[in-house]
Amino acid sequence: MARYTDASCRICRRENSKLFLKGDRCYGGKCSYDRRQTAPGAHGGRRGKPTEYGLMLREKQKVKRSYGLQEKQFRAFFEKAERQKGITGGNLLILLERRLDNIVFRLGFANSRTQARQLVSHGHFRVNGRKVDIPSYLVKSGDEVAVREKSREVELVKNSLDAVGRRGVPTWLELNKEGFVGKLKDLPTRADISPTINEQLIVEFYSK
Ligand code: SF4
Repeated sequence: MARYTDASCRICRRENSKLFLKGDRCYGGKCSYDRRQTAPGAHGGRRGKPTEYGLMLREKQKVKRSYGLQEKQFRAFFEKAERQKGITGGNLLILLERRLDNIVFRLGFANSRTQARQLVSHGHFRVNGRKVDIPSYLVKSGDEVAVREKSREVELVKNSLDAVGRRGVPTWLELNKEGFVGKLKDLPTRADISPTINEQLIVEFYSK
């Protein structure tokens, strides 16, 4: 059986986490990380004992890469999270989840955040009836995200919706699959987001 060991899969191995960067392939038993968790590279995949700084850096890189952001974009989200009331790390994760490209991915209109970003940029979605083509747009509680009528035949969207059952839709979202529309019922809380993320390490990384 073919294994996927290209650049995206190397990122998962580098971050020592399954980041689901390749959409449907990540779920089909062909995931290279499921078979081999060693680090990529020429030194036999050894992982040395991480330093304190190394741990913080890797956690930041893991989350940044998982959401497919560049450093500048990720830093901007962190600074926004810092300005909000509450706990910065939790705020950061909630802001990342509210990005339109992430919501499109979570609702199952795309198989990966990379696909979702491309579809959003190409204008395939409406938020509350208005075309929005900005992947970083922050979806609010009560907002409806719909596939534009003339985009409902796009193969990528149809195939992704067919596969949505495999990974499920988070409880804070609601999907009307037949209507090609989803709703953000309530903003997610920290408890709704991956427990494997240690966001405090990211806060410490940027506080250095
Ligand atoms: Fe590759 Fe996806 Fe597996 Fe990551 S989760 S190693 S991107 S197949």
